[in-house]
Amino acid sequence: MPTYDLVVIGTGPGGYVCAIRAAQLGMKVAVVEKNATLGGTCLNIGCMPSKALLHASEMFEEAEHSFAKMGVSVSAPKLDLPSMMNFKQQGIDGNVKGVEFLMKKNKIDVIRGVGRILGAGKVEVSADGKTETIETRNIVIATGSDVAKLKGIDIDEKRIVSSTGALSLEKVPEKLLIVGAGVIGLELGSVWRRLGAEVMVVEFLDRILPGMDGEIAKQFQRLLEKQGFVFKLSSKVTAVDTSGKMLGVKIEPAAGGAAETIEADVVLVCIGRVPYTEGLGLKEAGVALDNRGRVQIDPHFATSVKGIYAIGDVVAGPMLAHKAEDEGVAVAEIIAGQAGHVNYDVIPGVVYTTPEVSSVGKTEEELKQAGIPYTVGKFPFTANGRSKVNQTTDGFVKILADAKTDRVLGVHIVGREAGEMIHEAAVLMEFGGSAEDLARTCHAHPTRSEAIKEAALAVGKRAIHM
Ligand SMILES: Cc1cc2nc3c(=O)[nH]c(=O)nc-3n(C[C@H](O)[C@H](O)[C@H](O)COP(=O)(O)OP(=O)(O)OC[C@H]3O[C@@H](n4cnc5c(N)ncnc54)[C@H](O)[C@@H]3O)c2cc1C
Repeated sequence: MPTYDLVVIGTGPGGYVCAIRAAQLGMKVAVVEKNATLGGTCLNIGCMPSKALLHASEMFEEAEHSFAKMGVSVSAPKLDLPSMMNFKQQGIDGNVKGVEFLMKKNKIDVIRGVGRILGAGKVEVSADGKTETIETRNIVIATGSDVAKLKGIDIDEKRIVSSTGALSLEKVPEKLLIVGAGVIGLELGSVWRRLGAEVMVVEFLDRILPGMDGEIAKQFQRLLEKQGFVFKLSSKVTAVDTSGKMLGVKIEPAAGGAAETIEADVVLVCIGRVPYTEGLGLKEAGVALDNRGRVQIDPHFATSVKGIYAIGDVVAGPMLAHKAEDEGVAVAEIIAGQAGHVNYDVIPGVVYTTPEVSSVGKTEEELKQAGIPYTVGKFPFTANGRSKVNQTTDGFVKILADAKTDRVLGVHIVGREAGEMIHEAAVLMEFGGSAEDLARTCHAHPTRSEAIKEAALAVGKRAIHM
């Protein structure tokens, strides 16, 4: 008799949520974790610490620039970076402890060490020179992802950093050069710019936030430029000279041409993340990978070996914590014989800057490419009463609806609190709702969410406040 019904390797948001759902469904579950703390990338070096620093640095900037205009007179705020880092750490510790509590509450065994799959039903765990083999009916691989490296540029986490180093810099860089204009780079760039760094972002493509709606990204870029961000688009970093006091960053046009060298004291390499499967023994166990090194799964999260499943960043799809969590729930339900499912058409994405950017569903570019006729409704926060009184009017809401059926196909927002606002659109889309449904739903006044209702009205060319 195997000891467990399920062993989950990795305790990020995919793994620990999967374990809890499986325990709820009556399974005997263990999780295997190689890190000293539970919670994976998200809780330790990802979503949560970055959000703590975004919040603290935003407060710093607000105190510096926004309080006076509201009649709140304070002396110029001083930065105490060690205390800010301590604030971040307290947040991490609180959440990590929360996961430990949830493991206990759900009677899930936590096995510390590096997990290696020996084959269906067998996981070897090594820690402190000892190994043990655990027998289980099912295995879920939830080993997440790691930082993508840039060829020829060595990350030392001091001067040339990944997102992990950028969350723990010991002083504010004078000049921070970020390679990659994706979500993580722009969030961490925002943190350090607010704290005093000059920030330049070098991006290979001719736009920021690849994959997000182009019009939203363009307006967002303008807003970041107003804040002091400098963008070098269609450009690539080809080398970093570390010999001097300042780093010499060699930048070339993406299409080729003359190189230039720009000085920076910190370079943040933020060009994406890659699936993490090191030491898992997948090849020997016969678990197939796809052409991008991700664990290959069928629509039910099953790998090429019966009884072994995979979820989260280590498989295809957006590398997002909530996508990993939903897959964790779905695979636990499937293993229990239920019909677990994730709707990949309705996964929100958020950039937690100021203003925030959020989106769910199709972008305008995707609809054009798919040849789907659509109507657009837009509404700017300059015409939203609550935003006006708070003097936070940057950005707009954009709704894309099917031209024939009025079904909402995509919602994109740039503006304060956009990350909280997107969920009414997600619920609407889960239920296959129309712009008309959204427009006829009573929204509390005065809220920023009224801009969503107005954008929905604008799909039918009948916005009230514009
Ligand atoms: C700076 C940053 C900010 C981010 N911000 C956000 C955000 O705001 N919102 C969002 O949705 N996403 C965000 N992400 C992405 C998010 O962190 C990931 O999508 C999410 O953590 C993936 O979850 P996971 O469970 O698949 O893997 P992970 O969280 O990566 O967890 C995998 C776990 O597996 C363990 N592990 C790996 N191999 C083994 C092994 N062989 N044996 C034992 N244990 C093993 C690892 O130690 C790790 O704990 C951010 C990422 C970064 C880096």
